[in-house]
Amino acid sequence: PPDVEQLGRATWTFLHSLAATYPDTASPAEQKQMSSFLSIFSNVYPCWHCAADFRDWVSKPENKPQLSGRDAFGNWLCIAHNEVNTKLGKPEFDCKTWKNRWVDGWPD
Ligand code: FAD
Repeated sequence: PPDVEQLGRATWTFLHSLAATYPDTASPAEQKQMSSFLSIFSNVYPCWHCAADFRDWVSKPENKPQLSGRDAFGNWLCIAHNEVNTKLGKPEFDCKTWKNRWVDGWPD
């Protein structure tokens, strides 16, 4: 499989980009589609131990994907990413700023 770190950086870019372009308010069909994607993603992500830990985390009721709209999804994904950051001993990202990083850019 590809390098776990390089794969991870590319994948987080992809995942946060999904949130950045997710509808402000998602329809039931859009929510269902993203829910299916996340479920499949968590089964096919080609770092198997990463995928297994991610599945465990997502399967807890309190960590259910929040898919009602962009803010909810972006914040949920930020929390999911922080879970991995913590596991790897990396600093937590301030989720109040996820939009600066992935949607709007940082203020001057
Ligand atoms: P990354 O963590 O890849 O982050 C990329 C950029 O995203 C950062 O530079 C920062 O600007 C931004 N960012 C950081 N945190 C957040 C956040 N919370 N919200 C929004 N933006 C943020 N690696 C392992 O070794 N073991 C694992 O078990 C593991 N599990 C993973 C599970 C998943 C689902 C994914 C996608 C990746 C996993 N990885 C795992 C890879 C790991 O998370 C990193 O991608 C990799 O270590 C490279 O880290 P990095 O420091 O370059 O930044």
